[in-house]
Amino acid sequence: MKRNCKKYIKHLSAYIDGELTPTMKQAVEKHLAGCADCAERLSRLTALSERSEAALNAVADSSSVPPGIPTRVMSEARARRAQLRTVRSFRRVAVAAGTALLVVVVGGAVLFAQMRQEEKTLRNLIALQRDDVSQAQKQLGEAQERHEKAISALHFRMGELLERVEGLSPRTVFLPIESPNL
Ligand SMILES: [Zn+2]
Repeated sequence: MKRNCKKYIKHLSAYIDGELTPTMKQAVEKHLAGCADCAERLSRLTALSERSEAALNAVADSSSVPPGIPTRVMSEARARRAQLRTVRSFRRVAVAAGTALLVVVVGGAVLFAQMRQEEKTLRNLIALQRDDVSQAQKQLGEAQERHEKAISALHFRMGELLERVEGLSPRTVFLPIESPNL
């Protein structure tokens, strides 16, 4: 940091938001024209401000929000956005505050993305479990079918044997008596 940079750095946020008086604005612009460091600071701060606003809007305005889960994140994002506007209206956006806010906002966006990922994973798990259940049901059905087939085969065999026994009995028992040729 050189010369009187400090004096201008604190006005950069207000400069970006167009909240400086014409005199102050002119003074900042004059310094920026002759100070590469502050020009660099300004572009970083502008990018930061845009990113933080974009991240906020992405979270707060998201219409494809799954119900239930991100309510806390949503309300936090909306509160932060309102807070950002309030802070701006009071011309108190400092570089440090902007950075902290960005961390919170990006953290919120990351949390939101993680929640969606977790929800996706959860849905996959549920689908897998459903597959397991239907697989088990299928196997059970097949086993029942086999069981029924075995039972009916057994019944058929029993009936067959019974028929043979019944068919044999009279002949075996009465054959010598009934046959006149013997
Ligand atoms: Zn400077």
